[in-house]
Amino acid sequence: MSLLTEHRSGTVDLGPAAALSCRECGQRYPLSPIFACSECFGPLEIAYDLPAGDPEALRSRIESGPNSIWRYAPLLPVPADVAGKPNLNPGGTPLVRADRLAAELGVTGELHVKDDSGNPTHSFKDRVVACAVEAARAFGFTTLSCSSTGNLAGAVGAAAARAGLRSCVFIPHDLEHAKVTAAAVYGGELVGIEGSYDDVNRFCSELIGDPAGEGWGFVNVNLRPYYAEGSKTLAYEICEQLGWRLPDQLVVPIASGSQLTKIDKALRELITLGLVEDKPYKIFGAQAEGCSPVSQAFKNGHDVIRPVRPATIAKSLAIGNPADGPYVLDIARRTGGAVEDVTDEQIVDAIKLLARTEGIFAETAGGVTVGVTRKLLADGVLDPSLTTVVLNTGEGLKTLDAVSPTTGPTAVIRPDLAAFLDAGLA
Ligand SMILES: *Cc1c(COP(=O)(O)O)cnc(C)c1O
Ligand SMILES: [Zn+2]
Repeated sequence: MSLLTEHRSGTVDLGPAAALSCRECGQRYPLSPIFACSECFGPLEIAYDLPAGDPEALRSRIESGPNSIWRYAPLLPVPADVAGKPNLNPGGTPLVRADRLAAELGVTGELHVKDDSGNPTHSFKDRVVACAVEAARAFGFTTLSCSSTGNLAGAVGAAAARAGLRSCVFIPHDLEHAKVTAAAVYGGELVGIEGSYDDVNRFCSELIGDPAGEGWGFVNVNLRPYYAEGSKTLAYEICEQLGWRLPDQLVVPIASGSQLTKIDKALRELITLGLVEDKPYKIFGAQAEGCSPVSQAFKNGHDVIRPVRPATIAKSLAIGNPADGPYVLDIARRTGGAVEDVTDEQIVDAIKLLARTEGIFAETAGGVTVGVTRKLLADGVLDPSLTTVVLNTGEGLKTLDAVSPTTGPTAVIRPDLAAFLDAGLA
């Protein structure tokens, strides 16, 4: 159909994106809705014609752009006029200097929390979906879809509503109540699958190969190369917010591992483009113990990830067979980082620690990164004297069940002063 003729004739305008390239064998393909190399089955990623020349000029072009991910449009697979199209304009979230958390954790250097809970649907997924929407438009898809651990379903529902596309998204049937509601409210179709996220993902792959899935853009399957690039904006923002400086250490959550690999890609791009000084940085991956296939492989010195059946409160990270796991291992090892995991109890403690010290209420994924940061500091793996950035990728109100059993009113009293004094609260 028109999809193929269009890209073959080279009319797909996705800005600086020049082609797809195989991460394993380097084989190049024209920009199209494919995600695996037909030579070696390796994952495809975007190859760019990045802006050459004066870093100063590029820096001021970025700085004069909108306060959203679109200020980085020259580095993304999106058309130049992207900011003018109906979209949710994600990004521009705060980098919080976390001095009180640093004091609790014994950090003497700079500690920052990149707080992505303030995105339009309250997780970092708005960044990736916004890029996928541009690809969906370019390839003529009319239905936006995904397999989701919760946040992605909401991000796709909202982005489709804003863009005027149909959406039909798939989730494991037993997700957090708030995530189901926050996905369904946008009016698209939401399908609960009786199984784990990995079952949902397998189901979606089947649907893509079937005529029933014709015209469907699955943001994290057939649009995955375009979608994944959206995660780069987290790293661009962090460096710009640090005054065009690389952090020394980053602590990043791992679900499929896509975000972590693209953060590394973005940091290398910034160095290549001359936008930051070339210096070493270390990337640390964070998982929940109840779904820690990458952490287990890292600790055991394996190159292969052994899939697990997830059992953790960190449902947004509960991918038992993470597609980008091997690349995460490579990056952690190459940069001198590590991959670590924490228990559900440590996740809850970390959510409360971050809330109490910095006024940030993170979802369970943020409890994972803060908990892992604490553990890596205690083990002497993270250097407390350096500049460290910890990611909070989602909003605590979506995972209330994690903290509600151990959090509540200090007291419930009659509305009079005597009762207040009796309760010992003065
Ligand atoms: C999806 C998600 C991630 C990371 O996902 P990757 O698949 O590793 O890119 C992190 N945090 C939250 C809250 C998420 O929803
Ligand atoms: Zn290949």
